[in-house]
Amino acid sequence: MSGLHNLLAHEVVEGIKEGLFTAEEYVSSVIKTIEDVESKLNSFITLDTERALSSAKLIDRKIKENEDIGYLGGVAVGIKDNISTKDIRTTCASKMLEDYVPSYDATVIRNLKQNGAIILGKLNLDEFGMGSTTEYSRYHPTHNPWNLDYVPGGSSGGCGAAVAAGECTVSLGSDTGGSIRCPASFCSVVGLKPTYGRVSRYGLISYANSLEQIGPICRSVKDIVLLMNIISGKDNSDNTSMSSSPITINNELNKFDIAIVKELINGGDHGVKGTIYSTSDKFKEIGCTCDEISIKNLHYALPSYYTLASAEASSNLARYDNIRYGFDLPIEEYKWDTYFSNVRKNFGEEVKRRILIGSYVLSSGYYSKYYLKARSLRSLLKLELLNLFKKYDLLIGPTMPILPFKFGEKIDDPIKMYLIDINTVIANLAGIPAISLPVGFSNGLPIGLQMMAAPFEEQKLIDVSYALENTINIQRRPSLI
Ligand code: GLN
Repeated sequence: MSGLHNLLAHEVVEGIKEGLFTAEEYVSSVIKTIEDVESKLNSFITLDTERALSSAKLIDRKIKENEDIGYLGGVAVGIKDNISTKDIRTTCASKMLEDYVPSYDATVIRNLKQNGAIILGKLNLDEFGMGSTTEYSRYHPTHNPWNLDYVPGGSSGGCGAAVAAGECTVSLGSDTGGSIRCPASFCSVVGLKPTYGRVSRYGLISYANSLEQIGPICRSVKDIVLLMNIISGKDNSDNTSMSSSPITINNELNKFDIAIVKELINGGDHGVKGTIYSTSDKFKEIGCTCDEISIKNLHYALPSYYTLASAEASSNLARYDNIRYGFDLPIEEYKWDTYFSNVRKNFGEEVKRRILIGSYVLSSGYYSKYYLKARSLRSLLKLELLNLFKKYDLLIGPTMPILPFKFGEKIDDPIKMYLIDINTVIANLAGIPAISLPVGFSNGLPIGLQMMAAPFEEQKLIDVSYALENTINIQRRPSLI
């Protein structure tokens, strides 16, 4: 049976349960797609197709024996390669972890498996999640399925490209400053960064733990809901996790008060701006109000984010000392400090830059000048946003101020690269949920709408996204692939 790789996750589960096709037929169709397109896209770092096929056969046996297959029974999932998977190597796209095979599953992976999901493999990212294009992966860059000369966004670029191209049906990424939403926007798929604490981070290899969350990247809002209800919840292994009510798909939409944030939309690409304004007209069609507002403290967001994220990274990455993880370097030849710095040379340029910035802003004499100041600015911004949410249900703007761009365009200038995160880092600093929804194209390149809500108000994001998804008529699959 062909074309099964095009199905959405909820269609796959229903199809298998109703006996329309077997899990093996469906997984084979996804693997065939990988064989056809992976040489062009390079979405994966590690594939685990043999084990995926035997898991599919197990699902089919369960169906025959009338056993429950779970809410994700048979669905082929791709996982960003910074989420620990037992017995599948987890590299963080770094040479430091080239041979690292975790001995345990992240909580989200355990949840997926308990619900019948099939792990297909590990998806590409910028090294340790630091970047916005996958060009900082130490293995290979991933290509955008809508135009192979363009970046897919990052850092979860492998997730965005693989889901858009049908190399997996859904995926899990992580978002520290936009890494789920940026590739979702650039690859025309849906990506949700949950409220900080809704999803356990146990088993997510830390980059900046006060900012990051694991979340789904899918081809439909319904699939986002399906995955969120499986991965959310209190986990004793992560003290920052909290329980929350399940999210549902509602066919009736409440009248929401929405605000377009001027600063998020001005100064960006012309085509992006036009598409976001015409989408905002649709809000009125679906019965919502739409004002235009300003976030006064927005200009503090990027400096505060890059100070705090680098500070946390410098501390989190100190563990890569070649004692617990690393390479075969003969210890006798080196003094300890020479040995240590030789090992640390194996980080890529961007990761080294972050470690240096982070160590600097945390060092004595500079701690209050940079680190503490960045923390105060973070609180100021968060307070302003929480106040805005007293008046508005959602704050919106483009996910990315610009369209996807060609490889090499920004890689030589880190500041240029950091600047494109301006719209996404806000949600991480404030710990609030944010979604990126495909809403159009300009010059054949995708545009995503970002919507942010108050903490734990994911339901509002889903309600509006679902209504918009049904209203907006755009090409859903890349024709190149
Ligand atoms: N581009 C941002 C950074 O480099 C965000 C990355 C992320 O969310 N992991 O830090």
